[in-house]
Amino acid sequence: MKKVQFELMQPQEIIDAKKSWNSMKSFYLPEEIFALGVRIYLEKLVVQGYRLIVMVNGHGATNQIQTLERLAKEFSNERKVTVLTAFVAMPDENGVIDYGHASAAETSKVMAIHPEAVNLSRLPVKEKPLKYRYWAVVDSDAFLGRPNADFEVQDDPRLMANPQRGEELLNHAVKQIVEKVRHEIESWTEDKEKVK
Ligand SMILES: [Zn+2]
Repeated sequence: MKKVQFELMQPQEIIDAKKSWNSMKSFYLPEEIFALGVRIYLEKLVVQGYRLIVMVNGHGATNQIQTLERLAKEFSNERKVTVLTAFVAMPDENGVIDYGHASAAETSKVMAIHPEAVNLSRLPVKEKPLKYRYWAVVDSDAFLGRPNADFEVQDDPRLMANPQRGEELLNHAVKQIVEKVRHEIESWTEDKEKVK
C-alpha cells in the first residue's frame, strides 16, 4: 500500500521511466562481504610475492572506503607487503574532491572510457531540473551535506558532461596516484627499515 502511495507522488515521467528500464534493483553488497572479497584478493597477491599493492577505488562509499583503509593498514602492518588506497576522484588545484554520483563529472569519466554505457537521452529534457531523489544523480556538495535548496542537480550531466572533461579528470587522478606510489617507493630506498 505504501509503495502505491509513493508511486502516486512521483511525476508521470518517472513512473513511465521505471516501467521501461528500472525493473531491477541495485545489487548492493554489505561492507563486511566486500571486506572478505578484498581480503582474499590481498591474500593471493601477497602469496604471489607482490610487495606493493595499490587499491584504486572509483566509486565510494564512506563505509567501503573505510573498509579498504582498514585492510590496507592491517596488511601493511602484519604482512610482508605495503598496501595503499587511492580514490579516482582526486583533489583539484583548489583541494576540492568531486564525489558526485552520476553527475556531469562522473558521467564524463564513463564517457571517456565506456562511451557506449552513457545514454543521456534517457533523462528528461534539459529544461526540467533533475531531482536527486528521482534520478539518483547527486552532486558532490549534497554528499558533503550541502545539497541544492531544491535537491536538484547542479553539475548536470545533460549540460556539462563530455568525454574531454572525463579524460582530464582521469588523467589528473592518475597523475596524483602515480605521485603517491612514487613517493612510497622513494621512501623505501631512503629508509631501508621500510623495505620488508
Ligand atoms: Zn557514482
